[in-house]
Amino acid sequence: MGLAPIPLAGMDQLVDSFGRRHRDLRISVTDRCNFRCTYCMPEEGMTWMPRSEILSFEEIDRIATLMVERFGIDAIRLTGGEPTVRAHLPVLVEKLARLDTDLSLTTNASRLVSMADDLVAAGLARINISIDSLRRDRFAELTKRDELDQVLAGIDAAIDAGLSPVKLNAVMMRGINDDELVDFARFGRDRGVVVRFIEYMPLDAQGAWSDASVVRCDEIVERIGVTFPLEPVERTSAPATRFRYVDGGGEIGVVASVSEAFCGTCDRVRITADGQFRNCLFAVEELDLRALLRSGASDDELAAAISGNVDEKLAGHLIGKVNFIRPARSMSQIGG
Ligand code: SAM
Ligand code: SF4
Repeated sequence: MGLAPIPLAGMDQLVDSFGRRHRDLRISVTDRCNFRCTYCMPEEGMTWMPRSEILSFEEIDRIATLMVERFGIDAIRLTGGEPTVRAHLPVLVEKLARLDTDLSLTTNASRLVSMADDLVAAGLARINISIDSLRRDRFAELTKRDELDQVLAGIDAAIDAGLSPVKLNAVMMRGINDDELVDFARFGRDRGVVVRFIEYMPLDAQGAWSDASVVRCDEIVERIGVTFPLEPVERTSAPATRFRYVDGGGEIGVVASVSEAFCGTCDRVRITADGQFRNCLFAVEELDLRALLRSGASDDELAAAISGNVDEKLAGHLIGKVNFIRPARSMSQIGG
């Protein structure tokens, strides 16, 4: 159990029954994507949510404003699906930037060459870019799109536009791309960006995940460390466990969601593109905020529903246990 929260004057807090205070809001702006990463979406047959079911920018802004002003949320991350396929994304960024939180975006970077400057002008400060292979053939096999060059150019565009930090996310899957661990480490060192290796989670659309396919944190650090020795960095509340290169060449992170679940310090809540509030990535139940919004709920009613839902948050996920229940939606539909 966490420490008892210290109340802030004039502000409620989003604290669950285990004493965890929630400060980080993930907003999915679309379920659509221009890639088909095998661990996230099926190659064929995705049905997209109808436009009318997706929250408008005004609806997103209303919820985000309430979460910031009422509950002291201080970090907002836009995600998807692929957020850059949502039309006029910089308009939303500009609205949310006014809330003065730590605003960031998770993207596959395929459209950043044409968008990075507009996103920065709208107020985006930093960015996480997903890339799971540095080899063209494999990249195409993993994403079902032959766009490695566009993504590499997108990473450069993000750096050139002044986004800082630029972090790379790489999901490691045994026998699929784990032979690139050291290549990714070298790439990050050369470009001065942090690579965050993500343990493969059972949220793929095809149900192909198995425990044996997960490359765990200890192994990641050990294998990179043979070439570039690493040492731990003191843990913060961030989900990534951090390690620095002993030679001063920067650092890496490992999001060890499977092997070292960080549920005990979780401070995140999520809103799906169709306005469903989730108190956990692995939640099996959602709160229908869109219905509340569209039926004219007041801010007090919205706030009460949100805090009631957070109060019911479970202690943690049960990946690897017999009683683990896979959420009905895959990562692209929840918003990773
Ligand atoms: N399209 C954007 C992107 O790829 O960065 C944002 C959405 S994507 C769902 C967010 C993150 O979830 C990506 O870093 C992706 O690698 C990660 N992800 C998707 N499926 C995953 C899985 N089964 N296990 C671990 N990470 C996953
Ligand atoms: Fe699209 Fe991101 Fe899922 Fe890949 S991980 S299919 S880029 S939403």
